[in-house]
Amino acid sequence: MNLSDSVTCLKGIGGKRKEILERMNIRTVRDLIYTFPRKYEDRRYVSTIMQAPFNEDVLLEVVVVNKRLQGSPYNKKAPLKVLVEDSTGNLELVFFNAKYLGGYFFPDQKLTLFGKITLNNGRRQMVHPEFHKTGDKDDLRGLFPVYRLTEGLSQGQMRTMELQAEPYHALITEWLPAEIVDDNNLCPPSYAVTNIHFPKEERRVLEGRYRLVFEELLILQTGLFYIKKGIKSGEKGVQLSAEQGVGEFLDHMSFELTSGQKRAFEEIERDLEDMRPMNRLVQGDVGSGKTAVAELAMYKTVKCGFQAVMMAPTELLAKQHIATLKKDFEPLGIRCELLSGNMKAKERRELLEDLKNGKIQILVGTHAIIQPDVEFNELGLVVTDEQHRFGVEQRNLLTGKGTNPNVLVMTATPIPRTLAVILFGDLDISIIDTLPAGRKPIRTFLRYDDSRAKIYDFVRDKVKAGSQAYVVAPLIEESDAIKVRSADEIHKELSERYPDLRVGLVHGAMKQSEKDEIMTSFKDGNIDILVSTVVIEVGIDVPNATVMVIENCERFGLAQLHQLRGRVGRGSEQSYCILISGSKGEIAEKRNEIMVSTTDGFVIAEEDLKLRGPGEIFGTRQHGIPELNIADLVKNADILSRVRGIAEDIIEKDPKLGEPENLELKERIKRMFGENITLQL
Ligand code: ADP
Ligand code: MG
Repeated sequence: MNLSDSVTCLKGIGGKRKEILERMNIRTVRDLIYTFPRKYEDRRYVSTIMQAPFNEDVLLEVVVVNKRLQGSPYNKKAPLKVLVEDSTGNLELVFFNAKYLGGYFFPDQKLTLFGKITLNNGRRQMVHPEFHKTGDKDDLRGLFPVYRLTEGLSQGQMRTMELQAEPYHALITEWLPAEIVDDNNLCPPSYAVTNIHFPKEERRVLEGRYRLVFEELLILQTGLFYIKKGIKSGEKGVQLSAEQGVGEFLDHMSFELTSGQKRAFEEIERDLEDMRPMNRLVQGDVGSGKTAVAELAMYKTVKCGFQAVMMAPTELLAKQHIATLKKDFEPLGIRCELLSGNMKAKERRELLEDLKNGKIQILVGTHAIIQPDVEFNELGLVVTDEQHRFGVEQRNLLTGKGTNPNVLVMTATPIPRTLAVILFGDLDISIIDTLPAGRKPIRTFLRYDDSRAKIYDFVRDKVKAGSQAYVVAPLIEESDAIKVRSADEIHKELSERYPDLRVGLVHGAMKQSEKDEIMTSFKDGNIDILVSTVVIEVGIDVPNATVMVIENCERFGLAQLHQLRGRVGRGSEQSYCILISGSKGEIAEKRNEIMVSTTDGFVIAEEDLKLRGPGEIFGTRQHGIPELNIADLVKNADILSRVRGIAEDIIEKDPKLGEPENLELKERIKRMFGENITLQL
C-alpha cells in the first residue's frame, strides 16, 4: 500500500472511472485524498414541514401517509407521488421516471429526507429528495462533504471513493519539523485529512483545514522563495552615489510631490544606492503620479552617468511618455528618444548608434526595445509600465542589455499586498496611496436602460460645452448569443442621433496602427465622442475627456470598471462616470453600490477579490502560481503572512533545500509546481 498507487488499486475503480478521474487530475490515491471538499452541507438540524424555508436544502423527519402513481398506470412517465407528514403539516414527494421506487414506500414508514421544499399550486412538494430510513446508523444526518465534480461523477460516488481511500490516511505521517508543528498548533496530517473528508465535528474539521491550508501555503511560499533565490543570486548591480540628489529636477517640476510619491521615491532611492540590483514594483491608482516617481529614478540614474529605458505596452502610450519626458528632461540637457516601430531605416540606425555610444540618455519604446540590435552604452535602469502586459521573460531580456541594471515596474492595477507578495514574489513593493491635491472626485451614477436617451443628451451637452466623452461597450458587434449593446450599434446610433458631433469608433479587432490613429485623433480633440471596447483601458491620458459612459456595466469586472473610470477626472473640470446596467440581480446591485460609493482602487480590488476570487482577476496561473487544493490566497491571507516568515527562515538556513528535514518539503514543492520548477530543483 502506497500513496502513489494508482486509483485503480481501490475497490470498484476500473478503466472508465479512471478516465473520468484523470479529467480532474486525479491519478494516484494521494491525488484522490488531496482532493478536498469545496464545502459542507449542514444536515445536523431537523426542520419541520411548516417552518422550513422554501427553496433551501432542509432535513426533515416524516411519516409516510400514502403513495400513488399519477395518470394512467400504463404511462411509464407518470410521476410517483408519496404523501408524508410530520407534527406540523404534510408534503408531497415527487419522483419522475421512478416507478421502480414504488415498492420502497409504505404507510407509517419513518423517513429522513433531505432536499428543497417548493410550492406547486399552493401545495408543498419535494422533488427527488434524498431519503433514508430514520434511525439507521448512516442516515442522512450530519455534515456532508461536497466535492467539485466532473461529468459522469456524482457526490455519492466521490464520497464512496474517499471512504475506500481511508486506510491510506495512516500513511500520511508528520513531515514538518516539530518546532513548526508546535509553534503553530498544527494537528497531525492524517488526522487532518480524515476529518476533512469525514466530518464528525465542526471543531475537528476546522483544525484539519487549518493544518492543510497552512502546509499548502508553506509549500507555495517556500517554492516561490526558492525560485526567487535562483533568479537573484546576490550579484552586484548598478550602484548609484548617495551624493547625487534630485533637487534640481524637483525645483523644475510644476508641482509638489504628494506624500505617497515622496515615500515611494525614498524607497526607490535606497535601492538605487544599494549594491544589489533594485527589483521594485510601484503600485498606485490611476492618476496617482507614478510617472513622476519613475522620472526621479531616471534623473538620478542619468546624473550618475548611466542610461535609462522605459518600456510601454503600446506605441501610443510610448508616444505619450516620450512627450512627457522630453518636456521634463530636455530643459535640463538630458536627451530622450523614442524607438518607434515605424522609423525609417536610416533614422533608426542613427538612433541606435547614438544609444550605443551614450549620446542618448533615456530611451522609450514598446517591445521593439528588446530586439538584439538595440544596444546600450551603460544601462542603469529599466522602467516597465503596466507590468501586466509584459511577461517576466521580456523583462529579463531587457535587463540582459545591461549588467544587472535596476528594475522598476509600475502598475495601476491595485493588488492587495498579501497577494502582490505572491504574484510578484521576486519584487519589493512600494505603494503610492495618495492622489495629487485639487482633483475633483469623479461623480459616478448608476442608471438603467430606460434613461439612455437622457444620458446621451447629457453627454451631448457636455461636448457642446467643450468636453469629450468615452462610451464603452462590452462587445464589438451584435451577437445573438449575448444580449448586450455592441460598440458598433452604439456608434451607428449616436452618429445618427447627433449628426453635428464627431463620433469615433475604436475596438480590439482593429490593427494597432488604426487604433493608435483614432486614439491620437481623440487626444488631439478631433473626435468628440469615442465609442470603444475595453481597448482604452490602459494608460491613455486625455485630460479634456470628462464623461465616461459604460454600457452593460454588469459585464465588466470591478477592477476593470475602475480602470475605465480612471480615464476621466484627469483635468480640472468635474468628471462623470455613468454606469448603465442591463441587470438587477443581487450581485449586480452589490457591485454597482461599490462602484458608486468609492473611488479607492484598493477597496474596489478587495471587494472584487471577494466576489470573484484571485485566479479570475489576476490570472494567477499566468504568473506561474500553481492551482491550490484547499488554500485561498485571499481568504487565508492571515495564514499566508504567518507562513511567509517561516518560509523565509527555511530558505535562509537551507537555500538548496538539501537538509534531511527539508527533503519532503522539496518533494512537495516539486509536486506542486510541476515542470515550472524542475529546472531549478
Ligand atoms: P499614473 O499614476 O496614472 O501614471 P501620471 O503619472 O500619468 O499618473 O500622472 C497623472 C497626472 O497627474 C499627470 O498629468 C501628472 O503630471 C500629474 N501629477 C503627478 N503628480 C502630481 C502632483 N504631485 N501634483 C499635481 N499633479 C501631479
Ligand atoms: Mg501612467
